[in-house]
Amino acid sequence: MLPPPDATLLTAYNNLIDEIEHRIQDLTRQRSPALLHCHPGCSDCCIEFAVLPLEAALLQDALLHIKRSAIVQENHCVFLLENCHCSVYDRRPILCRTQGLALAYIDHESGTIEVSACPINFQEEFCFEQDDLFFMDDFNGRLAVLNLQYCRQAGLQPDCRIALSDIAGSLR
Ligand code: SF4
Ligand code: SF4
Repeated sequence: MLPPPDATLLTAYNNLIDEIEHRIQDLTRQRSPALLHCHPGCSDCCIEFAVLPLEAALLQDALLHIKRSAIVQENHCVFLLENCHCSVYDRRPILCRTQGLALAYIDHESGTIEVSACPINFQEEFCFEQDDLFFMDDFNGRLAVLNLQYCRQAGLQPDCRIALSDIAGSLR
């Protein structure tokens, strides 16, 4: 079991989530509503992945308070319910919150912007404009700082990643 983060860290993480959610709302309101086909039950992006220890600890804590279906869909995230809804929706990791947007990462060495986007929302020939992009680097950097603080408190390696299935398995 991972120890929960302290109250200061939890508040800082929640503030980061609020900021991300506001940015997502602004972006989708202004630019992308017609482009995005994400809806409850669409779950192609809900595949197994791994998170930083801080987000793993928060997911583990959330799991203590919800009743989960024991049915796991093959090749999908362990938290996906049979009806294709997320069982940890309110505490889903940052990566899940931003899925569906055109995620942009700046490569400072080459001076280019790398874009990753769901092909259901943005088909191959889609021509991205700056206003379509959700820049992840600042948010990821701030998550990394919070994770570092958490790992110092918990005595964990900050660069390790914990698979979602291992988080669920740790409570069985
Ligand atoms: S945590 Fe929820 S939103 Fe994220 S991949 Fe799993 S089921 Fe999907
Ligand atoms: S990112 Fe793609 S697969 Fe995921 S909910 Fe949106 S449209 Fe569906």
